[in-house]
Amino acid sequence: MDLPGKFDKSMRLKRYGVCFVILFILFVIWKLSMIETGVDRLQSIKEALELHKETLHLSQQQVLLLEHLENSNNNENINLPTIYAITPTYWRLVQKAELTRISQTLMLVPNVHWIVIEDSETKTDLVRNLILNSKLMVTHLNAKTPPFEQLKDKDPRWKRHRGVEQRNMALKWLRENLKVNRGKGIVFFMDDDNTYSIKLFEEIAKVKKVGVWPVGLVGGLNAETPIIDQKTGKVTGYKSGWKPDRPFAIDMAGFAINVDLILSKPEAQFSYKMEKGLQESEFLSYFTTKEELEPLADNCTKVYVWHTRTEKPSVNGVVPGLEV
Ligand code: UDP
Ligand code: MN
Repeated sequence: MDLPGKFDKSMRLKRYGVCFVILFILFVIWKLSMIETGVDRLQSIKEALELHKETLHLSQQQVLLLEHLENSNNNENINLPTIYAITPTYWRLVQKAELTRISQTLMLVPNVHWIVIEDSETKTDLVRNLILNSKLMVTHLNAKTPPFEQLKDKDPRWKRHRGVEQRNMALKWLRENLKVNRGKGIVFFMDDDNTYSIKLFEEIAKVKKVGVWPVGLVGGLNAETPIIDQKTGKVTGYKSGWKPDRPFAIDMAGFAINVDLILSKPEAQFSYKMEKGLQESEFLSYFTTKEELEPLADNCTKVYVWHTRTEKPSVNGVVPGLEV
């Protein structure tokens, strides 16, 4: 007699069971969709980070700028001029090694503002990370050398002008971002492969208009140097193994110019039209005469910079997953 009751009970149990399974499935679907949206959210955060990488980098640079301003207000370096060191750089196996060496030299120099210009279509993470790790005050730019001016692998180095586009880009940046007579500053062209003593920067800080000094291992001699008249202390000529009769027989690493001079001659820049090896001479002619040059480094008797060149390494394999 109680069969229908039993039947009802098992039906009810079955129904509960089905409801439970449905609820469980709904719960699992809901949970999965939560994970899904979590992944989506992470994905969009990642995309936003990618998109604003440049801006974030800038703000990290701005934090560094503030730190630098605070430091320069707090110590005796306040009266030192800012040295704008302009470094063109391009990708090759030794690039990171070169930039590591010169950035770590600059870390020992007070009041330096490093302007790094990559010879590339876009700024690279390699250079960006190196700059951020250096904690230096840096302006990071890029300017690609036009293909017809690009040095080919087998070309001898003298065959093409190097660093023209990049140095001009740095000059443009200075002219757009600094105002004349607003602060003491000196501009120096600091190629990425040379070797610089920190003493050189003490000399650069003394420049009034255009300062000059010897450069080691260049121009076919152990060092090139301006010749100084001991009585007048003026430059009378140059010792160089290559065209010593150039208007200024001085390597790119052998001079520095007051930033106000750079700003007051906006037409002065480097050009592919200049004769090979005459970039320095033609550029300096905009600003000064031989008689006006200021000899530094103990009256041009000391060498504090060497025109070194790093041998191209022979690499036959790449270790995966290792950033070199
Ligand atoms: N450079 C560059 N792109 C090039 C070749 C050179 O930006 O295709 C840079 C290089 O990194 C260096 C400067 O220009 O800072 C001068 O180049 P390099 O040292 O080869 O010239 P050299 O010492 O022979 O005058
Ligand atoms: Mn070089």
